[in-house]
Amino acid sequence: MVVKPWKLEKSAKCNYCGDATIHEIEVDEYDLKICCRECGFKRYYTFNMVEIPKKYL
Ligand SMILES: [Zn+2]
Repeated sequence: MVVKPWKLEKSAKCNYCGDATIHEIEVDEYDLKICCRECGFKRYYTFNMVEIPKKYL
């Protein structure tokens, strides 16, 4: 199964440059990447999806 990544944008306070900036968020089935548009600082979160309830398929 191929899942298209979601691309979102959110205004948030950057942990690196400390400003309230636009962050680009990319989510796919394995991880979540957050990138500060101002300074380029990236954070990654990884998760394992074990089950998708049938109502979402
Ligand atoms: Zn930043």
